[in-house]
Amino acid sequence: MVDCIFCKIINGEIPSSKVYEDDLVYAFEDINPSAPVHVLIVPKEHIASLEELDEGHTSLIGHLHLVASKIAKERQINESGYRLLTNVGKDGGQSVFHLHYHLLGGRNLQWPPG
Ligand code: 5GP
Ligand code: ZN
Repeated sequence: MVDCIFCKIINGEIPSSKVYEDDLVYAFEDINPSAPVHVLIVPKEHIASLEELDEGHTSLIGHLHLVASKIAKERQINESGYRLLTNVGKDGGQSVFHLHYHLLGGRNLQWPPG
């Protein structure tokens, strides 16, 4: 068993503000939001990062993208626009090593990011 903060959030050991849940994915509010909408969407399976994905995860990741789009519609940022991103490794700024996608919106996001 890996000691993983997001696994603990998924199984309820650590409280979170749930946004969405199904058999495959869990979504919750980021504890330190950097935009009016900042939701983290994670696979329930512990996968350390995008670098750990293989062909067997193709439908899972496709499903996760559809969940992101659904949440964007629910939060009414689908028309103004939003960003879905995953940080990978040290230079990517990844701090939690359980694959997660940031859904960011509700303000004009800068590009390129810092
Ligand atoms: P990363 O830097 O790995 O891409 O993003 C990790 C994100 O997880 C950060 O935006 C951080 O605010 C969020 N985070 C870290 N610990 C917790 C926590 O215990 N609860 C919640 N809701 N978010 C967390
Ligand atoms: Zn985990």
